[in-house]
Amino acid sequence: MTEFLIGRGHDGPARVGVYRMGSTKVQTPFLVGPPSTESIIGYATLGRNDSPTGGPMILAVPSPIHDSKSFISGAREDDSILLPSFPAVSFLGAEAAELMLENQLRFIDGIQDRVDPSRLIVRIPRQLTPGKLTSMLAEFSSLGVRAASVLFDGWLGPHDYSALTDRTMLPIDWLAIALGRISPSSIPFLFYLGFDVFDLGYAAESASKGVRLWNLSEESITGGILPRTCSCTACADHSDLRELDREKLHAMLLGHNLNIYQSILSESIQSLRLGRLRWLVESMVHSSPAATSLLRKTNKSLFSFLEEFTPTSGQTNLSLIGPESYNSPTVKRFRDCLASRYTPPEHKKLVLLLPCSARKPYSESKSHQRFIKTIERAIGAARSSVAETILTSPLGVIPRELERLYPAAYYDIPVTGDWDTEETEIAAEALVTHLRKFAEPAVVVAHVSGGYLDVVKSAEDRVSQTIVYTTDQHSPSSFDSLQSLQNTLNDMREVLSLKGSPPALFEDTLRATADYQFGPGAGEALVPDGAKLGGKLYRMVVCRVDKEQTCAFISDRGSLSLTLEGGRRLIPLQRYWVRFEGRKLEGGSIFAVGINEADSGIRPGDEVIVLNNQDELIAVGRSEMSGREMCDFKKGQAVSVRHKVM
Ligand SMILES: [Zn+2]
Repeated sequence: MTEFLIGRGHDGPARVGVYRMGSTKVQTPFLVGPPSTESIIGYATLGRNDSPTGGPMILAVPSPIHDSKSFISGAREDDSILLPSFPAVSFLGAEAAELMLENQLRFIDGIQDRVDPSRLIVRIPRQLTPGKLTSMLAEFSSLGVRAASVLFDGWLGPHDYSALTDRTMLPIDWLAIALGRISPSSIPFLFYLGFDVFDLGYAAESASKGVRLWNLSEESITGGILPRTCSCTACADHSDLRELDREKLHAMLLGHNLNIYQSILSESIQSLRLGRLRWLVESMVHSSPAATSLLRKTNKSLFSFLEEFTPTSGQTNLSLIGPESYNSPTVKRFRDCLASRYTPPEHKKLVLLLPCSARKPYSESKSHQRFIKTIERAIGAARSSVAETILTSPLGVIPRELERLYPAAYYDIPVTGDWDTEETEIAAEALVTHLRKFAEPAVVVAHVSGGYLDVVKSAEDRVSQTIVYTTDQHSPSSFDSLQSLQNTLNDMREVLSLKGSPPALFEDTLRATADYQFGPGAGEALVPDGAKLGGKLYRMVVCRVDKEQTCAFISDRGSLSLTLEGGRRLIPLQRYWVRFEGRKLEGGSIFAVGINEADSGIRPGDEVIVLNNQDELIAVGRSEMSGREMCDFKKGQAVSVRHKVM
């Protein structure tokens, strides 16, 4: 019996888990390879190599033209079995691919009495349409199969892209195996895409060709150039590799190449745990144009798959290092969510566009403190009528009320003052969407220069408001610019008849955060008119309605924590709900086994409400998985409960 348990530690579809086969129990992700690599789990072809001995193996049934069933008797209980298929069928087209899978289904029929289907691995053929692949995989699932392998050619071109696409079609509780030519630099990327097992074949092949692999490059030892120094266990004893005889060199190269794979896999796992896997992937793809274009294509076409498993909260600094970050799941989701969920408060009559600052949240930076002082000097309490909007790349626009939100308060970008065409357009697009939400009489004041100014100019033709510029292309923090801002705001006070009104920063912040977190309507439900708000924005703000607390804004996270009363108020919105099927909630966790239904919009890190079968609220808490995982997984912590009905 095999089992694949997926553990916590989301950063995109990547996961850690446990693979059990017979008495074998191995942590995932892990490496598999030909016998020479001495991996924990090796692979071989049934009937072609000697009978498997030693550790557990993944055994491939040879091509379907032979009577393959007779080979099965060679497999031991700890071995899993790769179903028969032709290795490369791309030239045969979709119909042949379908036949390959049908043949594998028939093969299972013939051996079911001898082999538990959970030991079998489907070999995904190329060129199946997504719809066909999904429906055929469901058939395998119903037979009890729980693993699939996808073949890479290593060129990171269209074929490898379609292998990645196939990966996204697998049922989420299956073990995903990447076979073929996989270089060390591809490991973080494939792990990020949700692969659990990686082929070491390329390490062995390279060693036999006299090639030493590194994280980002390859080195031919027989090429005549003085080899690099390496302190790994395989290389350390040899001062000049060129003097080694063929056999010793091969053993040394193989040992070194395996060390490189192990080290990059271990770095990938650690990055996952630290929430920095995406950063590692982006850093490493820059070593190759093909890898870079593969990631860009993945960002674009497989976005919904990446996004589904990317947490919505985090406290690690998010390093956004280049164009590959512009459409990463965290960044694009922020822009999308802001565009669809943020509604400016009605009392905002003037939009003030400001540049971002290196220090976050922005209002704690020196430049923003100067801006805020200038606004208050000009219009005093009427500041609450000003929609302060921060322009930034690649997040687009950030309303002042949401500056503490993740990732707005946690990102870091290379600052040069120059914006490339793509980031200018991304920010302009976000600005246009943002400004269209304000009524036409609202005036826009742009207190920006440099790249920020280009963004505003690029958006200007697409919006109906009048835009007033205040910096004359000087630095927004300069004395002249600030003076000009003060004068402009002063003039606007009369034009727009801005009145001194009570500061509404608490209300605006909590309502905007509620809408961002739970969708439109949540702000009104949790923070209705007349709600009492108290606390400190840089620490915690508590919201009470009729003396009952509904939620609290936690500054560190920039998000709201619900109380049971708050959870009840959100039920009519029918979002972020989880239905608990068990009888009674025990302890501080809800496990996936107790959940058959949940909102598919839930992401790891979301605040969720837990309902019983009568649609009554029984708890509120934080999700540890996406909604689909809660429903499909049989194990694992799904929700950390914050409050529950006693
Ligand atoms: Zn080495």
